[in-house]
Amino acid sequence: MNKNTYNPYENMLAVLDEAASRLGLKEADYITLRYPEREMIVSIPVRMDNGEMKVFEGYRVQHNSARGPYKGGIRFHQNADLDEVKALAAWMSFKCAIVNIPYGGAKGGIKVDPSKLSREELIRLTRRYTTRILPIIGPDQDIPAPDVNTNGEVMGWIMDTYSMFKGHSVPGVVTGKPIEIGGSIGRTEATGRGVTIITRQCLEHLGMSYENSTYAIQGMGNVGGTAAQILYDKGCKIVAVSDYSGGVYNENGLDIPAIRTYLSDKTKALIDYVSDDVKHISNDEVITCCCDVLIPAALENQITGENAAGVQAKVIIEAANGPTTVEADKILEEKGIVVVPDILANAGGVVVSYFEWVQNIQSMAWDLDEVNRTLKKIMNKAYDEVDAMSRDNKVTMRMGAYMVAINRICTAGKMRGGPISMA
Ligand code: GLU
Repeated sequence: MNKNTYNPYENMLAVLDEAASRLGLKEADYITLRYPEREMIVSIPVRMDNGEMKVFEGYRVQHNSARGPYKGGIRFHQNADLDEVKALAAWMSFKCAIVNIPYGGAKGGIKVDPSKLSREELIRLTRRYTTRILPIIGPDQDIPAPDVNTNGEVMGWIMDTYSMFKGHSVPGVVTGKPIEIGGSIGRTEATGRGVTIITRQCLEHLGMSYENSTYAIQGMGNVGGTAAQILYDKGCKIVAVSDYSGGVYNENGLDIPAIRTYLSDKTKALIDYVSDDVKHISNDEVITCCCDVLIPAALENQITGENAAGVQAKVIIEAANGPTTVEADKILEEKGIVVVPDILANAGGVVVSYFEWVQNIQSMAWDLDEVNRTLKKIMNKAYDEVDAMSRDNKVTMRMGAYMVAINRICTAGKMRGGPISMA
C-alpha cells in the first residue's frame, strides 16, 4: 500500500477483523462495527469576501452509539474525505471504550484548506456546516470537538449557531470551547498532556528513563507542540521536530520554547526557521532519525511499508490518529519496536472533553488540579488494561487496545438486546 492507494477505513477494518477473531467473536457478534451507523455528506455554500459563491463538501459520520452519545472532533483539511472521516469515527468509538467514558464515536470534516480563507469566510463556512449537521448533533446525541485545524474559537461559533436555532444557550453541544463560554480548564493541553502521561508509563514499564530518553516529534500543532513543551519542561532532550513544511534536528536537543514562539506566528513555517544550532531535515527523516522515542503527532499514513524499516526509535507513541499502516505495523513488530496505539495514547483530549461535558451538565467548573489528576488516573488505568490484554494474549499493544475496545462495545450492544438477538 503506497501513499496513493492507502485507505484509512480499510486499514481500520483489517485490524478490527483480526482483533475480533482473536477475541473468538463470530462475524455476527461484531459486524455492526464494520459499518458506521450514519454517514452524512453535506454541501456548504459560502459567499467569499470577493462576492463569489463557493461550495465546500463536509461530512459527519456517526460510527457507533452502543455505549453512549456519539463523540468526536471536526477537522478542516484539504484532503479530508468520507473514508478518512469514517475511519476517524470508528477510532473514536474504540478510544472512548478504552478509556471507559460513556460515549460512542463520531467524526466530522470539511474538505478545505483553512489557511486560504479569511476569518470571516471561516466563520460563514463553520456556521453553514453547523446548520447542515444540526439535526444530528446535540448534547445527548453527538458532541463535536476540535481536531486538525479547528480550535476553541471554531467550537464557539458552532455552539453559538446551534444555540441560535434552539433559542437558548446550549454549551454542552460541543467540547473544547473557550473557558469563558463553558470550556474546561486544561482541555486545550489535554491531548498532549495525555501523550506524555502514557509515554512516561510506557517507558517505566520497559525499564527506560523518561527524562533521559531522546525524542523526535512529527507535527508541532496543538498536540505535538504541547507534548514537546511538557517533555522539554521535564528536561527531556527533543532532537527533532517538524511541521508540514519539514523538520529541524539537533542531537543535543532543540530549543522548544524558541521554536514554539516562532511557530505561534501562523504565517511562519519550520522550513524558514533560522538558527545556528539546527540542521534542516525532511519529514521522512524525522520518522527515521536517531532517537529513543518517536511521537508522530500529525496525520494518518506517516509510518508506512516504505519507511518503517528505517525507524530507529525503540518506542513509538501515536499522538496522531492512524499514523501507522498495517504493513508498517508488521515491520515494526518484527523489529521489536513497541507501538503504543493512537486510540490509547491520544485519548487524553476526549477524556477532558468528557470532563467538560460533565461540568456543563452540572453548571460547575473544576480546577486544573482536579482535571489533570483525574486525567492521569484514567489514562494510567487504560494503559494497564491494554497492557494486560496484550500480555495475556501475546499480541501487540494495538491489538490489545482493539480487543479491549471491541469487547466493551460488543458487551454494551449485547446488553441492549443488540444485533445478536435481532438475528
Ligand atoms: N479530536 C480529538 C480526538 O481525535 C478529540 C475528540 C473529542 O474531544 O471529542 O481524539
